[in-house]
Amino acid sequence: MADTLDFEAVEVAVRRQALRLAARVVERRLNADTSDHTGPTLACACGQPARYAGRRAKRFTSVLGELTLERAYFHCAACDTGFCPRDRALGLDGTSLSPAVTRLVGVVGALVSFAEGSALLRELADVAVDPKHVERAAEALGREVAADERCVVEPGPPAEVTPTLYLGMDGTGLPMRASELEGRAGKQPDGAAKTREVKLCTVWSAESRDADGTPVRDPGSVTYSAALESAASRDTDDHPSDFAARVVREATRRGFPQAQRRVVLGDGALWIWNLAEEHFPGALQIVDRFHAKEHLSTVAKVVYGVTSELGRKWAHQRHLELDAGDLAAVVRALETHAPAHDEARKCGEYIQRNRHRMRYPEFEAQGLCTSTGVVEAGCKVAIGTRLKRAGMHWTLQGANAIIALRCTKLSGRFEDFWERRSQVRAAG
Ligand SMILES: [Zn+2]
Repeated sequence: MADTLDFEAVEVAVRRQALRLAARVVERRLNADTSDHTGPTLACACGQPARYAGRRAKRFTSVLGELTLERAYFHCAACDTGFCPRDRALGLDGTSLSPAVTRLVGVVGALVSFAEGSALLRELADVAVDPKHVERAAEALGREVAADERCVVEPGPPAEVTPTLYLGMDGTGLPMRASELEGRAGKQPDGAAKTREVKLCTVWSAESRDADGTPVRDPGSVTYSAALESAASRDTDDHPSDFAARVVREATRRGFPQAQRRVVLGDGALWIWNLAEEHFPGALQIVDRFHAKEHLSTVAKVVYGVTSELGRKWAHQRHLELDAGDLAAVVRALETHAPAHDEARKCGEYIQRNRHRMRYPEFEAQGLCTSTGVVEAGCKVAIGTRLKRAGMHWTLQGANAIIALRCTKLSGRFEDFWERRSQVRAAG
């Protein structure tokens, strides 16, 4: 008997049957309860009384399948709007997705494309939400996450404060829809822009050591916050830029100001150091060594050609000098090529300008983490793998919503957000 049984078919069929049954039970229970008909009138949001206008049925997608719920409907003549108090109580207002399905949509929307998310929901949960609907619901949730992020900035418990905390900043271009770029100057041949810059802030600790005793990023210690927003200060007042305010919030949440040692890591971009200077004046500034080496490798390719063995050796030699703290040797080597190659001249200036941020042997002696590429990897992990895939073109609103959703998920904060969201609904 056992070996003739198609166990998978039984599983699927029984699960469907059980869910259908559960859906009917929930439907009957909710529809039998008419306590949401509290009287002939109910105060509308506009302040005028709305009149009871009977029970209205609406279909909702739940993890049990489709549910048809009948709710008391009130209509306000003054502002000509209708509402169902129960929708609000159940977390169903303005949506046809149940809270549990909305949560699933949030998770898949943070991790994969809307089409993949829709397919995963069907495959894993037998829930049918088409890609367009996944997009709308995930973006709506992302907007809630973004608003929540701006409000919730209490620092974590003191136990979370580590001796050394690292704060990295980076930027990456995001392909935008043409309508989002009208009138913006960019790097295209005709002066137009194809992308807008997402700015990312990453905080982590590196108390762990690898076999050689080199500090490595502590697993699970990385948090992200990012958005398409400006790092330039508004010149009309002394408010920090939107991105600076975001970085300060993230630093506060992580207890960065309380850490015994504070390190700001970045590539050479000026806005990073300006922001660090202004908001974290006592923090040590380090140029991410991974980025510095990449810069030198780029010069080698420009000077010697992309596949040149000589170029590879030249870059390797500069990397060793950089590791040894012999910046003078690196600059001398760059100056040899500066007259013929602008890239070499610029790189020399970059090293001169940042030399106090590139004292790698000194930083290493202090047990600091300098060459992880964490900051650059952060842009790939938090932004690239989800938002910079073939054929993706974003609106400003849509991108910021999904970036907020993804950063919250990757930072291990989605549960906390959901908890707060459910509490607000329960209280409302
Ligand atoms: Zn009204």
